[in-house]
Amino acid sequence: MDGNSVMASGIVEKIGESRSLLTHTKFMETRDEIKNIIDAAISDHREGMSLVVAQLVHPKHGVIQDRAEISAVGHRVVHGGEAFQATTIIDEGVIDSIKENIPLAPLHNPSNLIGIEVAASFFPDSLQVAVFDTAFHQTITEKAFLYAVPYNLYSKEKVRRYGFHGTSHLYVAEKCAAYMARPLNELNLITIHLGNGCSMAAIKKGRSIDTSMGMTPLEGLVMGTRSGDIDPAIPFFLADHLKMSLGEIDTLLNKESGLKGICGTNDMREVIDKKNRGVKSAKLALDIYCYRIKKYIGAYFAALENVDAIIFTAGIGENAPDIRHQSCAGLGSLGIEIDHVKNRAKLKDIREISPDGNRIKVMVIPTNEELKIAQETKKVIDTQNMTSNN
Ligand code: ADP
Repeated sequence: MDGNSVMASGIVEKIGESRSLLTHTKFMETRDEIKNIIDAAISDHREGMSLVVAQLVHPKHGVIQDRAEISAVGHRVVHGGEAFQATTIIDEGVIDSIKENIPLAPLHNPSNLIGIEVAASFFPDSLQVAVFDTAFHQTITEKAFLYAVPYNLYSKEKVRRYGFHGTSHLYVAEKCAAYMARPLNELNLITIHLGNGCSMAAIKKGRSIDTSMGMTPLEGLVMGTRSGDIDPAIPFFLADHLKMSLGEIDTLLNKESGLKGICGTNDMREVIDKKNRGVKSAKLALDIYCYRIKKYIGAYFAALENVDAIIFTAGIGENAPDIRHQSCAGLGSLGIEIDHVKNRAKLKDIREISPDGNRIKVMVIPTNEELKIAQETKKVIDTQNMTSNN
């Protein structure tokens, strides 16, 4: 990113597999794009980063001459626990805190640490900055973040709701405020992030007051392969009755449940397609999925007491009108209405899908977590530059 515009974007996928994929796109002032795709085995993050750097300085698809031009590298860090309420410049202490939070995010924080280490070695003169998925939800108060289990599980072991997707919830909330030309700290919003992982947030006067994901990203809405809310006694039943191990139950709830568990498919496009072809299990999966969202809308309506806007975002939230329709159906008594023509319009940009003049706006707002991470990172460097100039 240069100032506020994106110069290039890219992704390295399937690191460590026999066929990895690097996609790099350079954006031109003429609005053209130059795309480069490398299809090869990329053995680890270091090799992936060396290929990314090679793209960035490449004479044709590159956007910089020298890696020293990069002032800072922003990292998405999944779990900041209670230690981080804001974007933070990474130093040894921050690394230690991310390590301390590994038990809370055993799959994510270790890879985030590898990313930080590798980026620091490739960009030794740049600041490394951490943007935490949990930070936006640190404004949630005890009554909403504590589980009703013995209190010392919180005070000693930090068992509590943390919430995730914070970067996305904040990004779309800010976009909504700009669209409505009102300060975010005057708005009450329900944000609904529906991607492979799904979560909702209740945002009161711009601050998160509740969110559906919990201590881990398993709680809450139905997701592609995750169950979301279940009776906490079900794992005991699975262990006692079916003799499943903890690891097997973990896999069942995280990887074999959700849409996939009900109809065998986790990709929403395929689930909708199956439903349209009359497959009953796909209709059932969608009914369960949307009913859960609708219940959370009701719950967050109660928590917020009044709502200015409901926002759908991420792959499913932005692209699946049927899901938006079904999740809001029958909520007219709360003032939530959807205009069916607007809901079906094939637009990519921020838009209202509620009837003109409706008190509660229902909106579709494309999320952009990478851009938000870059903006947050820039804010931190600007603040640091201002402090050092004073
Ligand atoms: P991630 O959480 O990995 O960032 P995304 O936000 O890209 O995921 O969302 C992925 C989900 O979005 C998948 O279930 C995919 O099927 C769904 N999706 C993408 N495009 C559409 C579409 N046109 N209609 C319905 N679902 C879609």
